[in-house]
Amino acid sequence: MPKTAFRLESFTESVIREMTRISDKYNAINLSQGFPDFDPPPELVAAARRALAEGYHQYAITWGSPRFRSALAKKQQTWMQIPINPDTNIVVTCGATEAMIVAMMTVCNSGDKVIIFSPFYENYGADTILCGAEPVFVPLYPPTFDFDPEELRKAFQEGVKALVLCNPSNPAGKVFSSDELEFIAKLACEYDTFVITDEVYEHIVYKPNIHRYMAAFPDMESRTISCGSLSKTYSITGWRLGYVIASADVINAAKKVHDFLTVGAAAPLQEAAVAALELPLSYYLKLQKEYTQRRDLFLTYLDSAGLQYMTPQGAYYVLVDISEFGFENDVLFCQWLAKDVGVAAVPGSSFFHEPVNHLIRFHFAKKEKTLKAAGEKLLQIGSLL
Ligand code: GLN
Repeated sequence: MPKTAFRLESFTESVIREMTRISDKYNAINLSQGFPDFDPPPELVAAARRALAEGYHQYAITWGSPRFRSALAKKQQTWMQIPINPDTNIVVTCGATEAMIVAMMTVCNSGDKVIIFSPFYENYGADTILCGAEPVFVPLYPPTFDFDPEELRKAFQEGVKALVLCNPSNPAGKVFSSDELEFIAKLACEYDTFVITDEVYEHIVYKPNIHRYMAAFPDMESRTISCGSLSKTYSITGWRLGYVIASADVINAAKKVHDFLTVGAAAPLQEAAVAALELPLSYYLKLQKEYTQRRDLFLTYLDSAGLQYMTPQGAYYVLVDISEFGFENDVLFCQWLAKDVGVAAVPGSSFFHEPVNHLIRFHFAKKEKTLKAAGEKLLQIGSLL
């Protein structure tokens, strides 16, 4: 029999998605794969109905429908504080997942090195390998998830083509400070490197933390490739709408990669999502308030259960320390948790390059009712062991 490609041998299937299957198997409350169990704003659903009735059934322009790009440019320009031309600075993709691999394939030649902070969202490792590049991991040290500036400089000295920055970070819940971003930006300029950002949690940030866009730092506009998505901000992970924002040169090249990978994101949903991009500032303030309530509610249960964690500064994940339970590793713990406690989490080891086996990731993008039900179950951990 002919064999499948070697490049697939160095990574496994997504552990996050596998945990969803395990959760379903045991009928657990799924706090593993991060997606909301509540609906998007009703005006989006109405706009989607209208788009289907109005006949948007064929391909949109491959790099994004003009109305969507124009609304996106307007919204992101306000938040990112950089000029964005809807025709030359945007490629609309099938979620940030496609945006990230498009960005990497756009800048990396085979054998190029890419810095990835560890822990990292599992796609980045696979993305680098799929485009023939080599990851250089730089640790973010728990419990605060700070990096060692000297270690980062050394990684740049290896001659890297790009650095991947997930900010706010999945799974660490870290929001990089201005000083940290400035340091990364300076190194990127000094070593002539791209920064590929994953900023899908840009609007899920907890006070007093503030999200700052790498593209807006001095001299970074032309070397930052900003990847984003509507999934998390508007609770529409299944619509698969993401984008790359970058300089005209990078976008020219990225359009080609995107075109041959997917042709384009769903045309009717791009039309409908204009309604999302035009929501007023009050929407984002409400989103932040509601996520803060979800986070605080879930953390109250973790506290009552006596679990140790770092308070998330952004995104909707929390890494919890399970060392005290005496399990051999986090994978076994997560299997037990789903089966015997009825709550699904992701083993932290799937996010770390280093051998870290004492953390598990919960997400809290869930209704109050769901979080309370999961929390009540977590309170029983001690008695079930
Ligand atoms: N970003 C989400 C997570 O980390 C969802 C991942 C996915 O399945 N695409 O859980």
